[in-house]
Amino acid sequence: MDFSSKLLENAVAEVSQLPGIGKRTALRLVLHLLKQPKERTTYLTAAIQALRDDVVFCKKCHNISDSEVCEICANPKRDRSVVCVVEDLRDVMAIENTGQFQGTYHVLGGKISPMEGIGPNDLNIRSLVQKVDEGEIQELIFALSASMEGDTTNFYIYRQLQGKSVKLATIARGISVGDELEYADEVTLGRSIVNRIPFEDSLKTS
Ligand SMILES: [Zn+2]
Repeated sequence: MDFSSKLLENAVAEVSQLPGIGKRTALRLVLHLLKQPKERTTYLTAAIQALRDDVVFCKKCHNISDSEVCEICANPKRDRSVVCVVEDLRDVMAIENTGQFQGTYHVLGGKISPMEGIGPNDLNIRSLVQKVDEGEIQELIFALSASMEGDTTNFYIYRQLQGKSVKLATIARGISVGDELEYADEVTLGRSIVNRIPFEDSLKTS
């Protein structure tokens, strides 16, 4: 792409670093911003900068939060003995939208993926095992997407927790293989949490 301006070229290069945004889309977005009042750009960059500067991760569940302990963990009505294990914030949002889950969460921050160089130590797994050892958790529900990485991660955690007194369950797969949790419809997802199955049963069928 030949740009008439170095400033334009730099802006397009930065925006096109975002996932799913090619050079053409980046150019469209940048030109759109140029047409907007100048404050729009200020609000946009300020919001992103504030997010980077001020965001914290809940010290209990590792979810993105504005305070040391997130609203879900801080809510006395939530059941701390039932913990849903998810990949990231998007899964928490999807499950919260179902209104079917009254427990709490543990956010791993990703899935084990040798292809992408993500190992168990890159994820919040040790703190999960620690929480189980502390004895408050009675049941863990695996709610990672049904992919090879999701299965590998579930199995790794399962191995880490063997012999410990915690019930392990997995969401019932009304969700077809490969579907990401965040795209599952609310009714199906809600049902799959309510009708969860013992994790070891899921090992036999796969
Ligand atoms: Zn939390």
